Amino acid sequence: MTSIPCTLHIDAGPYSKRLSCICISWSSLLSDGSEKVTKYLISSYLKADGSSHHAVWPPIIADFDAMASGYVGGRCIAGEGRKVWKLILIITKTDEQERCDGFGLPHYNGPEPCAECLANRDDMPYTDLQPGAAWRPTTNMALTKYMSRIRVPKHPLAASHYCCDRWFFYRDLMHLMDCNGVTASTLGGLLGMMMRDPAIGPNRAARLAIINTEREAWYTDNPGDHRLPPILSKNLVAEGWGELHGPAIKAANTRAAVPFVHALCHKYQATASAEHRAALRLITALRDFYDTLYGQPLFVSDAALATLRACTDDFGLAYQELREWARTRRLLFFNVRPKTHGMMHVPEYAAVLNPRWVQNYSEESLIGSTCAIWKRSARGRYHAGIQRTVLVKRATGLFLRLEM
Ligand SMILES: [Zn+2]
Repeated sequence: MTSIPCTLHIDAGPYSKRLSCICISWSSLLSDGSEKVTKYLISSYLKADGSSHHAVWPPIIADFDAMASGYVGGRCIAGEGRKVWKLILIITKTDEQERCDGFGLPHYNGPEPCAECLANRDDMPYTDLQPGAAWRPTTNMALTKYMSRIRVPKHPLAASHYCCDRWFFYRDLMHLMDCNGVTASTLGGLLGMMMRDPAIGPNRAARLAIINTEREAWYTDNPGDHRLPPILSKNLVAEGWGELHGPAIKAANTRAAVPFVHALCHKYQATASAEHRAALRLITALRDFYDTLYGQPLFVSDAALATLRACTDDFGLAYQELREWARTRRLLFFNVRPKTHGMMHVPEYAAVLNPRWVQNYSEESLIGSTCAIWKRSARGRYHAGIQRTVLVKRATGLFLRLEM
């Protein structure tokens, strides 16, 4: 017998203005190749208000039980000679919203907004990012305590025997950091500071022009994918807070902008002032955080884990210092969100599996193609059998790729 660890992925894509389409897929943790041949769609359905769609789960769980035995319907599913391959589900990958709304982990909008610790909005504030924060000793709580915080009645997957450790509903690095996450708040705050700095230019328009000239020069010197588009003033504020965002500012180019903003800070925030020193520490810690995770294989070395813990701590301290600097000036920069708190737990996840290896980037195109089929089949003769149409189309695509 050979055991192959597997992951389950759930996320929603846009279907119409009002409705989104949930896509559930699985893949091997060890697979290597394009999304079409490594991610397998199990189910897709419209996420209607108030409907839990729990009915899809018992058959999915039963299928995983069969896959874990190596046999489905009495037939060996895969093997090599006399060796049978068993496919074992070990983690579920999803975004913060589905993790809380769907699977019932402590909600980021709730009084205790973190599944990993007992931080709250009162005497153990989740907004305290310091190494000595009151919530820190509550991480790694007893497993019974962790499980007791999952909403009841439990989602069938949360109630199943697969949910047997605190890592089963894995926190997704992309949604935490890159996709409207910690990196967007960080870069928005740092660029927002520059936009207020008279040493950079006489007014906001002149400062923005300098930032964009530097951006172009940076990409000329550092060619590569995921370039940021020209930055507009409106790309630097969201709901009043400093945040890099906009239709053309995606998860991947937000992450890829970190070295550019690092260079920018070194050039324009290099005075001895406390806020400039904190800004440099912040962007350096963020760059090192990404470099460490992206430079490591599936299992992170002890030395890299120590580096990751150090730069996560540095980040928390510098971020909190800048939040305080901004607060005293009545500036809405460096918002400490539940996601910012969540970043503090990344080293704990990295000690189990490198979160970079199990993040949800590659599933995005599966969701895109599945939702495209849903949209095309929304009306007309394909509508009645839409679930089957989606699965057949994906299976046909897979078959053609493997045969040709
Ligand atoms: Zn926490």
